[in-house]
Amino acid sequence: MEHELNGRKALVTGGASGIGAACVRELAARGAKVVVADVDADGAAALADEVGGTSWAVDLLDVDSLATVSLDCDILVNNAGIQRISPIEEFDPVQFRRILALMLEAPFLLIRAALPHMYANRFGRIINLSSVHGIRASPFKSAYVSAKHGLEGLSKVTALEGGEHGVTSNCVNPGYVRTPLVEKQLADQAAVHGIPESEVLAKVMLTEAAIKRLVEPEEVASLVAWLASDHAGMVTGASYTMDGGWSAK
Ligand code: NAD
Repeated sequence: MEHELNGRKALVTGGASGIGAACVRELAARGAKVVVADVDADGAAALADEVGGTSWAVDLLDVDSLATVSLDCDILVNNAGIQRISPIEEFDPVQFRRILALMLEAPFLLIRAALPHMYANRFGRIINLSSVHGIRASPFKSAYVSAKHGLEGLSKVTALEGGEHGVTSNCVNPGYVRTPLVEKQLADQAAVHGIPESEVLAKVMLTEAAIKRLVEPEEVASLVAWLASDHAGMVTGASYTMDGGWSAK
């Protein structure tokens, strides 16, 4: 397992923090050369140094600039994401558009930029960080749920087009993972529901989960690394939940 990604080049968006950072470390540990792409230039550079990779300081909200990018990675992990919690009638339309740009349009443009290299090499792994909210909805997350449902569709279309070229495309659908994004969500949910943060996990976020703990970023990264490996060559157009049973009900 240690060297199974030797010779592969991976690009992880939002790679400076949380799940993305765990993916960077796991892919590098298995032998891949990793590009850490993030708007947090210092964080991306520091992690790239740590794993012997390179960094790409990029604001993925600048979607126009992504239309002319070409990528030479064998593994693309579309991970960068943000969250806003608000009832629809109060949801800022500018924020709605930004979330769709970052979490749906940017992945489309990066996939578009990566496919020519992958098709030429007859190998490619596209792994899209979706969410349980790619397959189930929750109130107050209209933009996030819309973007993730869209990403599920994009991932399946990529799988259908890429199959004959040796390219797979899959979604990973975590429940609540212990990252800065979720720490912010805990605070936001506490405000929306008017209860202390300490009660949010048990009473709001994990009520329907069979295993009532947060997912660790490293657990998600090990699934991503498996999907990137040769073992997963027949896995495409799929969505893998890792949510402690949250979506099983
Ligand atoms: P995080 O906040 O820890 O990290 C997100 C990273 O994305 C940061 O490094 C940030 O700088 C980067 N980023 C944000 N805006 C960017 C931009 N405009 N351009 C480039 N980079 C940008 O988040 P996380 O919790 O690790 O989430 C990562 C992904 O996993 C997201 O797509 C999220 O929706 C998904 N996800 C997270 C959870 C969870 O519970 N944390 C659950 C399901 C799915």
